[in-house]
Amino acid sequence: MANQSGSLTDTLRRVIVLGTGGTIAGRAARPGDNIGYSAAEVGVAELLAGIDAPAGVTLHAEQVAQVDSKDMEFTIWLALALRCEHWLAMDDVAGVVITHGTDTLEETAFFLQSVMAPGKPVVLTCAMRPASALSPDGPQNVRDAIVVAATPGARGVVAVCAGTIHTALDVRKVHPYRLDPFSSGDAGALGYVEEGLVRPVRDWPGGEPTVVLKSPIGAPPRVEIVTSHAGARGAVVDALVRERQAGAPDAVQGLVLAATGNGTLHHDLEAAAMRAQEAGIVVLRATRCGDGRILPKPSDALRDAGGLSPVKARISLMLELLGTVR
Ligand code: ASP
Repeated sequence: MANQSGSLTDTLRRVIVLGTGGTIAGRAARPGDNIGYSAAEVGVAELLAGIDAPAGVTLHAEQVAQVDSKDMEFTIWLALALRCEHWLAMDDVAGVVITHGTDTLEETAFFLQSVMAPGKPVVLTCAMRPASALSPDGPQNVRDAIVVAATPGARGVVAVCAGTIHTALDVRKVHPYRLDPFSSGDAGALGYVEEGLVRPVRDWPGGEPTVVLKSPIGAPPRVEIVTSHAGARGAVVDALVRERQAGAPDAVQGLVLAATGNGTLHHDLEAAAMRAQEAGIVVLRATRCGDGRILPKPSDALRDAGGLSPVKARISLMLELLGTVR
């Protein structure tokens, strides 16, 4: 609904805030305690109390889940994708904000970008201190995320924390304590939020969803991550193969190897990975390194995940096994 001037910035727009829990919704017994708290206690509507929406923007809160994001599950990702699609289809909705724990925020963001690649912004935000802290960081992060979600031209799934905007593809939690725990690695941040204004330094993520999920979506395929390291052995991988050969109902279908450097594996683990691939398990190598990507060689016998981290490679493989890759 445009006003008389008809300009987009003057249009009354809604931003939908979906709550999923996390430290941002955490409560501690003592205000000075920033680590001994219970995550996922405060409802999303309460998190919005006292936050002034940008001019012309109205807020609507909806609780989708209430979990510590270390316990995030595929079913919550599906519920989030459905709620995002529902709200983003409405003309007066500018964008969606998702409040989330920092621990698996990058996984949820990557999943949503992979299945939706939305033409409007979906902004994940979080906090490193609980809502009960002396000086909580959540309210400013939520305010910044709302600003991004209401910004004309913004699109795609992004994360906003400590005034920095990261794409779903690049964002990675790199610090367990500081208030700015995320990095976009080599790619750098997408932009910044400064006093209610967005300053992009890169393009917003575009493109199409990388997969079309087949409906109805049942249990996700089991994909495990096994790390290569000094002294690594193939025993865990062999056990997964045996489980599959025994016909276990939730047997592993995919295996991500968190590989050293440019996708290399301890020879014992590599031999087991080759046996797994021969047994029909889809095997993917992802580098353990925080930055960069695997540069493939013609002699590679196991696929690589390019620049995806092991946890994002796992999601990519789950989606590949579940849906139709474009
Ligand atoms: N364990 C919390 C979570 O991911 C940590 C946080 O939100 O910072 O839900």
